[in-house]
Amino acid sequence: MERVVSGMRPTGKLHLGHLEAVLKNWVELQHNYECFFFVADWHALTSDYADTSEIRSNTLAMVCDWLGAGLDPQRCTLFVQSLVPQHAELHLLLSAVTPLGWLERVPTYKEARQQIKDKDLNNYAFLGYPVLQAADILIYKGDYVPVGEDQVPHIELTREIARRFNKFYGPIFPEPQALLAPDPRVVGTDGRRMSKSYRNDIKITDPPEVIWEKMRTMVTDPARVRRHDPGDPDVCPVFSLHKIYSSQETIDLVNVECRRAGIGCIDCKRMLYEHAMKRIAPIAEKSRSYEQNIDEVKRILQEGSQRARQEAERTMEQVRAAVRLGL
Ligand code: SF4
Repeated sequence: MERVVSGMRPTGKLHLGHLEAVLKNWVELQHNYECFFFVADWHALTSDYADTSEIRSNTLAMVCDWLGAGLDPQRCTLFVQSLVPQHAELHLLLSAVTPLGWLERVPTYKEARQQIKDKDLNNYAFLGYPVLQAADILIYKGDYVPVGEDQVPHIELTREIARRFNKFYGPIFPEPQALLAPDPRVVGTDGRRMSKSYRNDIKITDPPEVIWEKMRTMVTDPARVRRHDPGDPDVCPVFSLHKIYSSQETIDLVNVECRRAGIGCIDCKRMLYEHAMKRIAPIAEKSRSYEQNIDEVKRILQEGSQRARQEAERTMEQVRAAVRLGL
């Protein structure tokens, strides 16, 4: 089976954007590929090094959501990056062959330096994190990495690093391919892309009354001010969530009735809430049941990390022999 490798930073409880844009895809991939999914806790250090107090609890909270969404530890390897120290060893070796200019021109690096002002990104680890990403992938000789469009340059960089390493030391690493993940563009309550940092997110495990309150107060078509004003679903964030969660019948109904003011926005949001909860509630329930049984989650991650270490060590034995260090 071909191999897929992907990771997520430990951000704690996940929101609907993570669920529909990442987890849904991972759950499907586990049926067709040998999958390694990891919690990228070393990556969290690039920006949160000064306060690590929440990384462990965020790791466990996030993995409860992974399991709730349907990732099955019998089908895929779920592990924690920092429990596989081989990633760090390979990162160091890859950093020796990576020209500085390659890192400085990564678009997300430049963007983050310009846009993120509330965190100190002025450190060596932040510049080097695409090299750590390359190590994360190459150490499992991953064939594919599921990514969104904006991450494609990182995979290209991983391929370049693999090529350069192979040129110096012999053909160790295959070049991974980006597997473009479907992007359902999940919008948040203010109409921008759903994101924890925008504070516009709806968490999978928010209590139902909180989910309803967030949906009830979501922005709509700004031109539809009064109940009898016709609306335009094409510019309404609520409608874009309908397209993810509602039945075709409801989507068609909203599409017609909104335009002739046949339904009010609260009716429309109530329909969205009911459809969305059919998908979200069972996932949230399963995630909460893992939260109640956190030792089981730790066991899953320990076992997965053990399996990952074996695979990673196999690659590192080849790498160490190729680099010819030591005695
Ligand atoms: S009826 Fe629905 S789709 Fe139309 S503006 Fe209101 S919330 Fe948006």
